[in-house]
Amino acid sequence: MPEFVRPVAREGVVAMEGYHSPQMDVDVRLNTNESPVAPPEAFRTAVADMVADVSWNRYPDRPATALRTALADAHGVAPEQVFAANGSNEVLQSLQLAYGGPGRCAAVFEPTYAMYAQIARTTGTGVLRGSRDADHRLVADDVLSLVADQQPALVFLCSPNNPTGTVDPVELVTAVVDVAAGYGGLVVVDEAYGQFASTSAVDLLAEDRPLVVSRTFSKTWAMAGARLGYLLAPSWCVAELEKVVLPYHLDTLKQAVGVLALQHGAAMDDRVADLVAERTRVAAALDALPVTAWPSEANFILFRPEAGPGSPSGGRWGNDVWQALVDRSVLVRDFTTMAGIEGCLRVTIGTADENDRFIAALHEILGGPLGEASENPPTQPDPNGQEA
Ligand SMILES: *Cc1c(COP(=O)(O)O)cnc(C)c1O
Repeated sequence: MPEFVRPVAREGVVAMEGYHSPQMDVDVRLNTNESPVAPPEAFRTAVADMVADVSWNRYPDRPATALRTALADAHGVAPEQVFAANGSNEVLQSLQLAYGGPGRCAAVFEPTYAMYAQIARTTGTGVLRGSRDADHRLVADDVLSLVADQQPALVFLCSPNNPTGTVDPVELVTAVVDVAAGYGGLVVVDEAYGQFASTSAVDLLAEDRPLVVSRTFSKTWAMAGARLGYLLAPSWCVAELEKVVLPYHLDTLKQAVGVLALQHGAAMDDRVADLVAERTRVAAALDALPVTAWPSEANFILFRPEAGPGSPSGGRWGNDVWQALVDRSVLVRDFTTMAGIEGCLRVTIGTADENDRFIAALHEILGGPLGEASENPPTQPDPNGQEA
């Protein structure tokens, strides 16, 4: 046998930890901000009918004309101002491939969606880290001076912000865009949870503004399994993004699925309204418990269990509560060790039943000694992590 020298991945990749959120075998999964229910029956039937007509032997329509036109109509923009991709993660990656890269920087305001920094590493883009105030809001002066002084090629805003649920005021987004416009920076507003919120940056879009808004079918459209996201942007930006994606990256089936989904917008809106109502109910229930919860305009709520006498302090207490929830077959996302939100957990809004299970479990845990009422043995993490 000749000598075997195992190839080493390039610098930066070796040290990376793949971004993941552990999955476990539990009854109530409230950890990845998915929709708790499937898309409407009528949509699923339409998809089944459509599949029979797919031209499998042909390459997809490369510019995804029908899908982009339907998305453009839905948002009142031109098809040239729409870029569709495999989940908004591919949108975010395309932005960094086109506008980031070696010698360039992206600004992020943490705690925020971890994929901005993760994709920066895979694309060789530098990361400038800004922070938030104690209630996770952006501080206008800090954001504007960081952008003006460092002139990052990309600025990532996330509104509502994952994992805190915070929305950015439109005036602040406008001010950041104005600063970026002065030196050639591009501002990205990630609105993955946009339909759950009361404000959006979509109305600010213009050909002469360096602003793009990213959206996804994964959360509001109950289609995380479809991997479809899109961007609304000036046409000059879309033209650059088209150059960095692989040819035919959006398959024929997915393009058609996206068009069909948009025909069921009213049913999707009803689901969003249901989840917003449940969010209000869960927030009220949290208010009655010894936790600090932050206002959220997304389909999740960030909260921090407050340690009582005799319980371990800070993040360790939050982690104990997380485990006690798992013991009761309720999985939430553990952010207890994340800088800026130490000790915090994030619960996705589920069905009314799932939310009841979560609230009841939390009552039990915070009302008495931990672990007393455990019915289910602790489960093992699934090594196949999942994003969000
Ligand atoms: C879930 C999420 C995404 C990723 O969405 P996909 O379209 O499923 O890739 C993007 N941004 C934020 C803030 C998210 O929470």
